[in-house]
Amino acid sequence: MDQIVPLADWLPHSKTPLVIAGPCSAETEEQVLSTARELAKNPDVNVFRAGIWKPRTRPNNFEGVGMQGLPWLRKVKEETGLLTTCEVANAKHTELAILAGVDILWIGARTTANPFSVQEIADVLKGTDIPVMVKNPVNADLALWIGALERLSNAGIKKLAAIHRGFSSAEKTNWRNPPMWRMPIELMRKYPNLPMICDPSHIAGKRDLIYRVSQKALDIGMDGLMIETHPTPDQAWSDAEQQITPAYLAEMINELEIRHQSADDPSYEQSLEQLRSRIDQIDQELIDVLHHRMQIVHAIGDLKIANNVTAVQISRMNDIMDRRTDHGKKLGLRPEYIQEVWRTIHEESVKTQTDMMRAHHGLDDQV
Ligand code: PEP
Ligand code: MN
Repeated sequence: MDQIVPLADWLPHSKTPLVIAGPCSAETEEQVLSTARELAKNPDVNVFRAGIWKPRTRPNNFEGVGMQGLPWLRKVKEETGLLTTCEVANAKHTELAILAGVDILWIGARTTANPFSVQEIADVLKGTDIPVMVKNPVNADLALWIGALERLSNAGIKKLAAIHRGFSSAEKTNWRNPPMWRMPIELMRKYPNLPMICDPSHIAGKRDLIYRVSQKALDIGMDGLMIETHPTPDQAWSDAEQQITPAYLAEMINELEIRHQSADDPSYEQSLEQLRSRIDQIDQELIDVLHHRMQIVHAIGDLKIANNVTAVQISRMNDIMDRRTDHGKKLGLRPEYIQEVWRTIHEESVKTQTDMMRAHHGLDDQV
């Protein structure tokens, strides 16, 4: 994973951000080619996507045209010059896609969740240097996402990228797959050289949220966008609600504000430095305050032990949560933020006091 080739080296002519567009599924040769022709008029689009084999949650839905769609992708490349990419979910797909000259492969969310399938794909890829993009697994498991990338990296693939497509959730939300931004951000922190591409289509699930998600991805500093595009989205054979037309895509890209990792302006650097040193100072103070708070937690622990009182009092816990949330709200801090911070702070206090109680009983095993 430390030999990842930067995106600019394997897509030398691509603009930033990288835009991958095309239908959820290849349906007919005509649909594939007409979408590609429209997209090729847009200089912001670099790569054409189309699902050839479609993983569907329930059977009896359209499961993709299969290998008959591969020559359509070759035609796209020959006619428009766009690079092509499709999803591969097993060894057979991978062999067929490579044979058909597909330029970039991607591994879908359901496949990333299955190490057997990823390994079988990685085994086929040994000895090639085809670029591979790995979608996050359906479940919010960062190790599983990293594991899939490592299997490909161990097979010698250096042109790697990650695709953030959101995570499935049991809760009913506005999203098809809630983005849980902290997950891709954590991956970006761990592997700063790994290109991160956002797939707003599968996060949003409906077309009116795509612009918002795309802008957020760029604001975070992601390297590209993969957006499902169809000439007549409402008639699409899969994911109709989230697909947009090539014309709307062009409009949307024009509206997006593109940010950079840094700015050339020296006054920007200077202001940033000053603000960051204030943050550093505040963080130090926060740690000192947490330390001071912990000393008091210890004193309370001694008092509870002496009086044979439990570490947790639910009423006190609720009282702390309510009062801190109210206080934060008055200062414009989100209740969820304050609750998360105090949950962590309180959890550590409970742990400290139960550890003290265990030691008092002469037990030293961790629980
Ligand atoms: C897709 O890109 O069409 C797709 C099936 O995506 P995911 O694997 O993210 O569900
Ligand atoms: Mn789709």
